[in-house]
Formats: sequence, C-alpha cells, structure tokens
Amino acid sequence: MMNHVKQERIKSNSPCLRIVNKHKFHLQLAFSTVVMWLMGAIADMRSESWLLKGILLGCVLGAINLTSRQLVGPSMRELVPAASLIASLLWIVVTCFTVQVLFTLNAVGLVYYYFRSWRTDPGYIRATEEEKKKNVVLLAEAGCLDPRIFCTSCMMRKPIRATHCFDCDSCIAKQDHHSVWINGCVGARNHRYFVMFLFCVTLLGALTFYGSISYWSSLCTLSYSEDGAWGVLTKLVACSPWVLYIFTMAFMHTSWASISLLMQLFQISVFGLTTSERINLLQRRRRYQQSFSLRENPYNLGIARNVVNFFQLRCCGLLKPAVVDWTQQHSSALNLSAGEPFHTV
Ligand SMILES: [Zn+2]
Ligand SMILES: [Zn+2]
Repeated sequence: MMNHVKQERIKSNSPCLRIVNKHKFHLQLAFSTVVMWLMGAIADMRSESWLLKGILLGCVLGAINLTSRQLVGPSMRELVPAASLIASLLWIVVTCFTVQVLFTLNAVGLVYYYFRSWRTDPGYIRATEEEKKKNVVLLAEAGCLDPRIFCTSCMMRKPIRATHCFDCDSCIAKQDHHSVWINGCVGARNHRYFVMFLFCVTLLGALTFYGSISYWSSLCTLSYSEDGAWGVLTKLVACSPWVLYIFTMAFMHTSWASISLLMQLFQISVFGLTTSERINLLQRRRRYQQSFSLRENPYNLGIARNVVNFFQLRCCGLLKPAVVDWTQQHSSALNLSAGEPFHTV
C-alpha cells in the first residue's frame, strides 16, 4: 500500500507526466488519430500475407495496451471515447471528401455542432459555500430537505428539471444525459447542438455509404449471385481494405448516432421530455404500477410547440419560442401549462 502511494507520488512529480496531464486531450486525440490511421494502413498494405498484417496489428494493439497502462490515468481514460470519435470522423471526412455542396456543408456543420456541444456550458448550477450554508438553513427551517428539490451532493436547492451528474459533480439544468462522446453533460444549453451533431453524423454516414457503394460498383467486379456473401466480402477486402475499414467505422458511428437521433426527436417532440426524465417516469410507472401516459406532463405543449421551443425556431418573427432559464426555475409556475408541481426524481 505504502509502495503504491510512493509510486503515485513519484509519478505525479514527474515532469513528463505533468506535461502529459496538461495537454492530455490533445495528446489523446493525436494518439487516437495515429492509431486509427495505422490500423487502416496495415490492413491496406500491398502485402498479400494476412498473417503478417495480423502480427503487425497485434503489435499495435500490444503497444496501445502498454502505453495506456504506463501513461494513461483515469482522467485520461475518460477522454478515450471522445478522442476516438473525433479521430474516426476525421479519417471518414478525409477519405470521402469531395467538393460537393452537401458534403462540405455537412462537414462544416459536424465540426461546428460538435464544438458547440462540447464547449457550451450545459447548465451547471453552482453555489458558493456561503450560499450553500444559507440554503441549508433556510430549507431545513421550511422543512424542504426533500431529495426531489434538494441535492445532498451540491447542498443546494435544485431547480425543477435539474439532475445531479456524478461524473460532472454538479447539478445540471434540464439534464438529458452524460455523454461519453463529448466527455460532459447534455443539458438545457447544449442539448439542441448535440441533436444537430447527431444529425450531421447520421448524414455523414449516409454519404459515406453512398460513396463506398459507388466506389465498389465502379472499381470492383462484384456479383452476389455468382460469388455469394463470402465471395463478395473477400473481393471487397481485396479491392480496397482502407475503403472497407472506413465503411465499417462509418457504419458503427452511424448506428449509434441514428438510433440516438430518432430517440431524441421522438421524446422531444411527442413528450417534451429529456432522456433522464423519461427514464425516471418509466421507472416510477413500473415500480408503483401506475398507469399514466408520458404525454400527460406539464412540459408537453404539443408536437409543433415542443419542436419550436426546443430548437428555438424563430423564422423571421413568425414563430415565438418560449425562452426559459432552467437554471433559475424552482417552481413549475412557468405558464407552460396548468399542472401540479412536477418532479421526475
Ligand atoms: Zn447536485
Ligand atoms: Zn455530466
């Protein structure tokens, strides 16, 4: 135990590790970009020997394992999904890049919405130590230390629709979920950027599928009726391993992004709820065997109004979305609809 503490102390004082910690995201991103390229480049080598390629891929995976054990701490490990996503999207865009309006606009939108989702404050609710003490006294006197309205981790009164995130160690206004892809929470202020980002990933996937199929149909002679499924796969690998590698990456990212996008659009438009609220209500319905519809909630204003409010659509003044600061809303008297105070936790 003592040795372990000593080793950790030596590690934290090491100048090399201090530099690594300071630039951990950039290093993780550079590392993921190189690894993604290396794996595709090995598969795409001119050699016919898949044994050699397998050995080289094994060496790369061994080197990743060794590096992550020696250098990567828990704080750096949580950056891995975000860095891998950016690196793989980068290689997909670089490989499929064409000077075409839709592709270019989508690539710009992808970068913009990812950056906005990642860098925008999702709606952190913070209080000073002084405010926390005052809150506890006031709420205790009023008998309001109810976990639905009081967060015992932040020691403060939670606004309605706020949820405590243990990864971010803060209450988040109108929290949807904690996303590993942006290494942060999706909440009141960045939720619409995140949904637009999911849309851009899905569209990039669709354009990649179209590009890959066009490439294979023009440069590879494939016939499913003659070769069968295995024969077609073998020919695809032989034709261009790199294109198949990019296609597989695009397929993986498009799968999760399109499912998340459909789920998000459904619950935003039909229920006017966030993912965390929907899960809480479903759990409550199952646990207490209640029979209520998710549509019957004070935040559901009908499909059109829900969409206008969520995306803050204005359309030259024709639409008037409700602007609500969810970090400051402590009661449901929002003129959204008549209803009892509504807490999902
Ligand atoms: Zn909290
Ligand atoms: Zn979080």
